[in-house]
Amino acid sequence: MAKTIAVNAGSSSLKWQLYSMPEEVVIAKGIVERIGLNDSIFTIKYGDGQKFELVQDIENHEVAIHMLLEQLIKLNIIDKLEEITGAGHRIVAGGEHFKVSTIIDDAALKLVDDLAEFAPLHNPAEATVIRVFQKLLPETLNVGVFDTSFHTSMPAVNYLYSLPKQYYNDFAARKYGAHGTSHRYVSERAAELLGKPIEETKIITCHLGNGASITAVDGGKSIDTSMGFTPLAGLTMGTRSGDIDPSILPYLMDKLGLTDIKDMINILNKESGLLGISGVSSDMRDLLEASEENPDAGLAIEIFEDRVRKYIGSYIATMNGVDAIVFTAGIGENDADMRRNVINGLTWLGCDIDESKNNVRGEETVLSTENAKVKVFLIPTDEELMIARDVEALKK
Ligand code: AMP
Repeated sequence: MAKTIAVNAGSSSLKWQLYSMPEEVVIAKGIVERIGLNDSIFTIKYGDGQKFELVQDIENHEVAIHMLLEQLIKLNIIDKLEEITGAGHRIVAGGEHFKVSTIIDDAALKLVDDLAEFAPLHNPAEATVIRVFQKLLPETLNVGVFDTSFHTSMPAVNYLYSLPKQYYNDFAARKYGAHGTSHRYVSERAAELLGKPIEETKIITCHLGNGASITAVDGGKSIDTSMGFTPLAGLTMGTRSGDIDPSILPYLMDKLGLTDIKDMINILNKESGLLGISGVSSDMRDLLEASEENPDAGLAIEIFEDRVRKYIGSYIATMNGVDAIVFTAGIGENDADMRRNVINGLTWLGCDIDESKNNVRGEETVLSTENAKVKVFLIPTDEELMIARDVEALKK
């Protein structure tokens, strides 16, 4: 039977999910963590609750994939490698070139490499992984599924920064956004729940996880999104600052005695957001626990909710209306208080949450009251399934 593997490679990790297609059944999934470090962790979950785990040094992605393919056979998850007829690779930066998921041949792979400028930690690892697949599974179709593709439909009004236009013309300096696969998946599902052709819908999708972004989806197309040139912009995130006034950077560098802007950007990426405000943790569950005693943890939660609400409000203005608001990803799917606090600030705009329905985690649910003008949905995201579907569509 044909299998498709959805692969999500980070700089030191490799997450994957193996599907039997076209039935869309997950037959195994796993993660390799700490690649290139001591004591890498290699895990596979399969069958009915079986788990395989190994802790040993895994020096690079090639070794990790070798091990993975070997274990899939040893654990009888597949009989032979040729069963894996498709591999979908999540790629962070697709620039303006990759507008849709694309079969990766040598020319496309070179472009993925060239786009490393936009995602220096991710694109090189993703290109490496594709090369390893080409080598170890020469008959398998490799497809790139880009985080940015869904947002290539944004109009210039929304993707341009108010900078000298020449910087866009000469250097492609613009907003690209991210999380596109997730926004595409949940917006398509929301249109189904609305029972309307997606072309006739206005949907705001809130992907609220450790990384977080909000997208205005008008007629099935992303027309604006909160992340920017990189995933640092927009909402308050686990460790990322989201939007700030750039003039604060030289001011703080001076105060902190920093001379390299990269150190400052590193603080914005890794030491800010929920972690930076609370001083406790980047993880929303920890903040919820700490907030009873620690006012800064409570403040971090309030700031997070405020930014989500502001972006929703501004995207209602961008689209001149909204039919549905979708919550997804770790915080969006699990944090009922956050959803209530956000929506309760938007009642004037026609939103109304049903408290009894909102008391739910991770299950597709209509959260709004019967008579609310705007539907509010919880829709669990499934980027891996979207990746597998894109591969399947290109196999034909
Ligand atoms: P993700 O990046 O999508 O895996 O989401 C991770 C975020 O979801 C972290 O901030 C978690 O604390 C948060 N999260 C997971 N479960 C819950 C929960 N039950 N309540 C609140 N936040 C949660």
